[in-house]
Amino acid sequence: MNKRILVTGGAGFLGSHLCERLLDAGHEVLCVDNYYTGRRSSIAHLLDNPRFEIMRHDICFPLYVEVDEIFNLACPASPIHYQFDPVQTTKTSVHGSINMLGLAKRTKAKIFLASTSEVYGDPSVHPQPESYWGNVNPIGPRACYDEGKRCAETLFFDYHRQHGLKIKVARIFNTYGPRMHPNDGRVVSNFIVQALKNEDITIYGDGSQTRSFCYVDDMVSAFIALMNSGDEMTGPVNLGNPDEFSILELARKVIEMTGSRSSIVFLPLPADDPQQRRPDISLAKSALHWEPTIRLEAGLVRTIEYFRSIL
Ligand code: NAD
Ligand code: UDP
Repeated sequence: MNKRILVTGGAGFLGSHLCERLLDAGHEVLCVDNYYTGRRSSIAHLLDNPRFEIMRHDICFPLYVEVDEIFNLACPASPIHYQFDPVQTTKTSVHGSINMLGLAKRTKAKIFLASTSEVYGDPSVHPQPESYWGNVNPIGPRACYDEGKRCAETLFFDYHRQHGLKIKVARIFNTYGPRMHPNDGRVVSNFIVQALKNEDITIYGDGSQTRSFCYVDDMVSAFIALMNSGDEMTGPVNLGNPDEFSILELARKVIEMTGSRSSIVFLPLPADDPQQRRPDISLAKSALHWEPTIRLEAGLVRTIEYFRSIL
């Protein structure tokens, strides 16, 4: 059945891929974005589709539209962007979620939250299962994002318990792929852009910190599987690729795959940078019958190709 689906943050990296996939499945898609980090160029190729509509709007303000489902993705995701205006970041997660939950309550729409592995902070449990409550510094430079998302999760579960809303809370781990902004500041895009320009590859700290990288197509499949799961499946559910790499390994891989002449330089580690991160995806596997299928090398090939084409 074709549905009317709202995607907030639809002009962003993940949002643009999600809009595309929902249109391909025959749905009507309303993309709402204030272009804080998103770009119209990311969705320009969708504009000719009569089932696609875009609206410039900041979700910190109420929105009155009629929809069947809401994917709430709006929020800057890269540390340099979410720390640029931290108050706005928290407002987007908290006021934005309240507005979208209010919209879901009025329209009886099912609502999805793009939460994050950052709710686990610098984890003392490894890999991270959903039952782990996290180790977050509430007053550090990452708190505007981490605590904003934690409060958004609280709001989703309170609207579920208090008002019976159908909620879907996804804890997303590092995701990469084409259409990341070249100046986004996240590690995969930074390293590829630096390598292609033969500039120094900037490792923060000694590069021993780990991350687990999921390719965007796998992540979008998980979003859709979660949204289409039974109402009892509220989450939170970890979504990510459990293959774990150190940042130094990633830098070496990118240099090798691009044939770059770049050197690696070591810069100071930002405050509260998590030392390790890997999702336990047992729940996603059993409840959504989902697991990632694209290995890091294969995803990097496509991402490098994309950055080569735009640089
Ligand atoms: P992105 O920065 O590319 O996209 C975010 C989009 O939200 C942008 O288009 C931006 O303009 C828009 N936006 C920001 N504030 C807004 C507001 N107040 N009103 C309307 N639009 C607003 O980031 P992304 O990587 O696509 O992330 C999408 C979502 O997924 C975010 O909520 C992020 O926290 C979450 N997430 C992403 C990752 C990842 O690795 N990519 C990991 C964990 C969580
Ligand atoms: N990082 C790095 N060099 C860069 C960008 C990031 O070494 O140019 C490191 C960063 O300190 C962190 C990891 O790579 O340890 C992942 O950073 P990113 O900003 O992509 O996401 P995070 O998982 O920290 O939110």
